[in-house]
Amino acid sequence: MGKTTGFMEYDRAEAAHRPVRERIGDYDPYLLPSSEADIRTQSARCMDCGVPFCHAALHVAGTSIGCPLGTLIPEINDLAYRGDWEMAYRRLALRHPFPEITGRVCPALCEGSCVEGNYSEPVAIKDIERTLATQGLAQGLSRPRIPAPTGKTVAVVGSGPSGLATANALSLLGHRVRVYEREDRPGGFLLYGIPNMKLEKSIIDARCALLTAQGVEFCCNCEIGTDRSIEQLKAEHDAVVVCIGARQQRRMQVPGSDAQGVYTAIEYLTATTRQLLDGTALAAGLSAEGREVIVVGGGDTGTDCIATAIRQGAANVSALEIMPALPAERAADNPWPLWPRVRKTDYGHEEALEVFGREVREYETTVSEVLQDAGRCIGIVSVQVRWERDGSGRFTPVELPETAATRKADLILTAMGFTGVEPALAAKLGLPTTPRGTFQASEGDALGRGGFATPVPGVFVAGDARRGPSLVVWAFQEGIRAARECDKYLRR
Ligand SMILES: Cc1cc2nc3c(=O)[nH]c(=O)nc-3n(C[C@H](O)[C@H](O)[C@H](O)COP(=O)(O)OP(=O)(O)OC[C@H]3O[C@@H](n4cnc5c(N)ncnc54)[C@H](O)[C@@H]3O)c2cc1C
Ligand code: SF4
Repeated sequence: MGKTTGFMEYDRAEAAHRPVRERIGDYDPYLLPSSEADIRTQSARCMDCGVPFCHAALHVAGTSIGCPLGTLIPEINDLAYRGDWEMAYRRLALRHPFPEITGRVCPALCEGSCVEGNYSEPVAIKDIERTLATQGLAQGLSRPRIPAPTGKTVAVVGSGPSGLATANALSLLGHRVRVYEREDRPGGFLLYGIPNMKLEKSIIDARCALLTAQGVEFCCNCEIGTDRSIEQLKAEHDAVVVCIGARQQRRMQVPGSDAQGVYTAIEYLTATTRQLLDGTALAAGLSAEGREVIVVGGGDTGTDCIATAIRQGAANVSALEIMPALPAERAADNPWPLWPRVRKTDYGHEEALEVFGREVREYETTVSEVLQDAGRCIGIVSVQVRWERDGSGRFTPVELPETAATRKADLILTAMGFTGVEPALAAKLGLPTTPRGTFQASEGDALGRGGFATPVPGVFVAGDARRGPSLVVWAFQEGIRAARECDKYLRR
C-alpha cells in the first residue's frame, strides 16, 4: 500500500474533459491526459485491501463484479503511487492485453466494486490504467514477443476485440495466426462503432502493427461464409476461432419506419468514421448538419450518436429511451459491491446539455410512427409508456395513447441494441445457434475452464458471438479463454 493515509487525505478526481465548445469542433479525444502528479495522488487512495473486490470477476448475487481480466489493480496502484511507472505498466500488461483500449472505453467494472466505493468514492482505477497504458505504448514498453513456433496455424474470423485478443494469445503460444475480416480495416466495433473522440483510431493501428510484428496476418475485405467457407479454413488451418460479434441489429418496426432518413446507429457511426479515416465527404443523407435528429435508444451507442450529431452541426437532438430513468444513487436492492445501476451523464449528454441548454434524454418514451413526405421522414409521433407486468409476470411497456405527440424529425438514428449473431451469416457458416441468438458452445466449468468449442470439431467461438452483446473487456476475456481452449485442442 503506497500511502497508508491516502484514502483519508485525498478525494477522488477524474480526468478532466476538454471544454465542450472546443471539443465539438473536432473528433479528437474528449478526455485530457492526466498528469503524473494527479495519477500518484489518485493511486495513493488505494487501500490495498486484504480482500480486494476490484480485480477479479467474482460471482455475487447471480452477477459478475470486478475486472473480468483479473488485472492486478492493488499492485499497479502501489507501483504508480511510488512512481515506478515502468513496473506498474508491466504489471498491468501481465494480465491485460490491451489496457490502452479499456482505459478509454470501459465502464470500469473494477470501480463499481472497489471497497472504497462502499464508504466514499472508488479509486479512479480507469484513469490510472489509461495513463499508464498510453505512456507504456508510446514509450515502446509493449514489444512484439515471438515464441518458438509450434507449426500449427489458426484462422480467427473477425477482428473486433475478441478476435484481436484471441490472435494475440494464440500467437504468444507460438501458433501462426491469420485473422479474416470482412471490413477494409481491423478493429470491429472498436473501429467502426465507437467514435474517435472516445477511442482514437491511432491506438488500434498501433496495436495491429504490434500484432503484425508478432507474426499475426490480417486478411481484410474477406467475408467468411461468402468469400471463403469454414470448410476451406478448416482445410487450410489446424483450428478456427469465430469472433464475428452479435451484430443483428434490433430495428424499429412502426408504421413509416422504412422512410429515407431512418438509419441504424451502426450505419451512421460507421459512415462517419470511414469519412474521417478516408478523408472523404459524408453522404448527404447521413449528415446531421442542420437537422432535427431523433436518437431512438440509450446506452453507449445512443450517446455516441448524440455526440457525433452535435459535431456535424445538428439543429437539435432528442434521445428517446423506452426504459425508466435510473436513480441518482444506488437503490436498496443494488448495494455495493454490485455494479451501481445509477444514472450517468456521459460525454455526449454533457455536450448536449451545453449546446441545446437542456437534458436531451426523454425516458419511458418511444416512437409509435414515422411521418413521411414523398418517402422521406419529416417527423415522428412519440408516445410515453408505462412498464407493467404481463400475464407471464414479465415487465412490458404499455403505450399511453393520450401522450402521443407529433414532432419534427429529419434524421432518425436507431440505437436499439442487438439480438445476436446475424442469422444469415450463422447459416452460411453452418454453426448452430442458441435461442438467445448466440453460437452454441460447450459448457464451461465453475472455474471458467472450457466453454468455447462448437459442435464442429476444431471450431471455437468467442466474444459477443458466444456471450451475446456485451462489453469490450468481456470480449478481451473471451478471446484469452478461447485461445487457451484452442491451444489445448492443438496440443491434444
Ligand atoms: C456504437 C457502439 C459503442 C460501444 N461502446 C462501448 C463502450 O464504450 N464500452 C464497451 O465496453 N463496449 C462498447 N460497445 C460494445 C463493444 O464494442 C462490443 O461488445 C465488442 O466490440 C464485441 O467484440 P467482438 O469482438 O465480439 O465483436 P465485434 O466488435 O462486433 O467484431 C466482430 C468483427 O467480425 C467481423 N465479421 C463479422 N462477420 C464476419 C465474417 N463472416 N467474416 C469475416 N469477418 C466478419 C466484423 O466486421 C467485425 O469486425 C459498443 C458497441 C457499439 C456498437
Ligand atoms: S478494492 Fe479499491 S481500494 Fe481496495 S485494493 Fe482494489 S482499488 Fe484499492
